[in-house]
Amino acid sequence: MVISKVDPSPAFQLVAEHPALDFINTLDWRFRESGPEELLQSYDHLLRFIEQSKMLTIKHIQLLHRNTRKSAGGRVLAACIELREAMADVSYAWLDGRSPSAAPLRTLERHFKAARLQQRLSWKGSQLEWSWSGKEADAELPLWLLSLATSDLMVSEAVHRVRACDNEECRWLFLDTSKNHTRRWCDMKICGNRMKARRFKAHKKS
Ligand SMILES: [Zn+2]
Repeated sequence: MVISKVDPSPAFQLVAEHPALDFINTLDWRFRESGPEELLQSYDHLLRFIEQSKMLTIKHIQLLHRNTRKSAGGRVLAACIELREAMADVSYAWLDGRSPSAAPLRTLERHFKAARLQQRLSWKGSQLEWSWSGKEADAELPLWLLSLATSDLMVSEAVHRVRACDNEECRWLFLDTSKNHTRRWCDMKICGNRMKARRFKAHKKS
């Protein structure tokens, strides 16, 4: 089902096995000599990513699309990109055997705290649960969802299974959930076979 009235934005390739990593991969060809390609060009692209990652339902996405003014959407997109780049800094530093610098850590901390502050703790049947009660139509909801998904991953054991694609111009991140921890590519069809362009769109552009 296509989101009505939302940009017919390109479908994202979700290959990372975690939304926080798929999110980092939305700056495509991050290490290419001729420069990367930004896949998040508008708030609607961001909504599309959130919908495709199943972080919100289509109905909820449509609510945000209807309620969000262009200026607010632009602000949220910029904040999401700040979050993404801070996480990319930390992740690639760690993968390259370096300690991440202080600035991106502080940026992540600010986003993680801000997101948690928006949640309400409520009693759900038999246990406590964090919810977005009262914030469901807020333009910033995608930012908070991505912040918490990022926070969850980065402080979990799973972060030790984060790997980068072996194609040095790509280096898309993914969780290596393969049995013998031998996954090397973001996608066999993409970088496993470098003769093929990443996607049809890239073909058309070049
Ligand atoms: Zn790749």
